[in-house]
Amino acid sequence: MRKAKAVDTAFACSCGCLRGHITAAGIRCSTHVVCYCNDCRAAQLYFNQPDPAPGPVEVLQMLPEEVRIETGAEHLALMQLSPKGMLRWYASCCDAPLATTSRTAKFPFAGFIVARMLDTSALGPITTRGFVPKPGGKQEHEKLGYAAFGLVSRVLKSLLTGSWKHTPFFDIGTGDPIRTPVILTKAERSALYK
Ligand SMILES: [Zn+2]
Ligand SMILES: [Zn+2]
Repeated sequence: MRKAKAVDTAFACSCGCLRGHITAAGIRCSTHVVCYCNDCRAAQLYFNQPDPAPGPVEVLQMLPEEVRIETGAEHLALMQLSPKGMLRWYASCCDAPLATTSRTAKFPFAGFIVARMLDTSALGPITTRGFVPKPGGKQEHEKLGYAAFGLVSRVLKSLLTGSWKHTPFFDIGTGDPIRTPVILTKAERSALYK
């Protein structure tokens, strides 16, 4: 889908201590999506953000290496809804959720929370809608092709060029995330899925 001109796009946590930008290159090969899934909502509730339901959470799917933290990196913190859950990065200064990544740097995927961006005019239109509620309690993905194509082309490019190693979220030497995650207990988790 044709996009607005890609430019460096600034982001900040709610209190402004942690700031950075997503590179123009990152914006250019991103996929702008919304997600209605229970996990995205639960994470917003855990971080005391406004309840998105019945609406979705707006996310920019992109390469982690295109996230550049400029100030306040010491506030970067990590949460998982469950031991096998995605890595949910946030700013510990104000509990603002920033991005969700896979659990390994070698699968370079980040879903950046669009609400953290200061100007979203470069993002282009929303293409894919994930887990959209349908009559009868079912959930369906709409135009998943855009997200699937974007994901595959980004991951291949990053792995082939080795640029995945520039992720700000992992220690490439050990392969571990740079922060120890807070992992929710079953009780904490069930309180968030209502
Ligand atoms: Zn903050
Ligand atoms: Zn989701």
